[in-house]
Amino acid sequence: MLIPARMSEAEEQRWVTVMLDKLAAQESKRVLGDSALTERAQRLSEQYFGGRARPASVRWVTNQNTRWGSCTPSEGSIRLSHRLQGMPEYVVDYVLVHELAHLLVPGHGPRFWRLLEAYPRTERARGYLEGVVAADRLPHLPAAREE
Ligand SMILES: [Zn+2]
Repeated sequence: MLIPARMSEAEEQRWVTVMLDKLAAQESKRVLGDSALTERAQRLSEQYFGGRARPASVRWVTNQNTRWGSCTPSEGSIRLSHRLQGMPEYVVDYVLVHELAHLLVPGHGPRFWRLLEAYPRTERARGYLEGVVAADRLPHLPAAREE
């Protein structure tokens, strides 16, 4: 680490602490890689579906702009749109849980949504994603005003 000259030992110590905090903050904001994503999906399956959904691979894709996620049940593969990157963790988890449920039940019938009830933030995450879609369709206004 490059430390500015003329720091007292106490200042130096404080500066190092601040820099380490900043690094830790950057670290936590970093996007999960594909293998971490796969592990996360496996943990979510354990937690909400008793491990019945068995994701073999989860990866980010950039060619998926109209869907947040998709899956191939015969392969156990799940793909997530890169547009989810930077969204809250509970939203990404919801899309993972949604695709995991599709490994068990195709389509969006009552059986599917009953499975999704296991994930407590389903409604909130769906609302968030609907909001993102709606915002994309709004004309781009200059900075919002409070009135
Ligand atoms: Zn679906």
